[in-house]
Amino acid sequence: MDCIFCKIVNKELPAWLVAETEDYLAFLDIKPVQPGHTLVIPKKHYEDLLSLPEESAVGLIKFAKIVAKAVVKGTASSGFNLTLNNGVTAGQVINHCHFHIIPRLAHDQLPAWPHKDYQINQAEDLSVKIAAYFKEL
Ligand code: AMP
Ligand code: ZN
Repeated sequence: MDCIFCKIVNKELPAWLVAETEDYLAFLDIKPVQPGHTLVIPKKHYEDLLSLPEESAVGLIKFAKIVAKAVVKGTASSGFNLTLNNGVTAGQVINHCHFHIIPRLAHDQLPAWPHKDYQINQAEDLSVKIAAYFKEL
C-alpha cells in the first residue's frame, strides 16, 4: 500500500520512533508544530477515526495518553494539545488515522482557535439535529 505511515510501520521508511506496542506506534512528526510533536497511529491501516474499529480506537487513545506523558516530560512542557484531523476539509493530509500530540510551553505563541458567535436559533437547531442523528447511531 502506498501509505507513508504504513511504510514507517513496516520499517521501509525511517522515523524517529518514540514508542511501540504490538498494535500502535508513536514517532516524531517530521515537520513539527513544536519540537517533540509526536504522532500516534494504529499499526493497521485505517483511513480515519470513523473507520477505526471501536476496540482499536480505545487502544489508540490509551496509548496516546501514555505517550503524551512521556512527551510532556521529554520536552519539559507544561501541557499538550491532542488533535486529530479527520478528513481533507479538516486538514488531514495522510490518510492513515493518527493523533497529534503537540507539547505546549508557556508563551509559545501558537495561535488559538478562533471563536464565533451563534446566530439566532442556530445553536438550538444544530443541537436538535445532532442529537437526532446521535440517537440513530
Ligand atoms: P495530517 O495533516 O493530520 O494528516 O498530519 C500529517 C502529519 O504527518 C503532518 O504533520 C506531517 O508533518 C507529518 N508527516 C508527513 N510525513 C511524515 C514522515 N515521513 N514522518 C513523520 N511525519 C510525517
Ligand atoms: Zn497506512
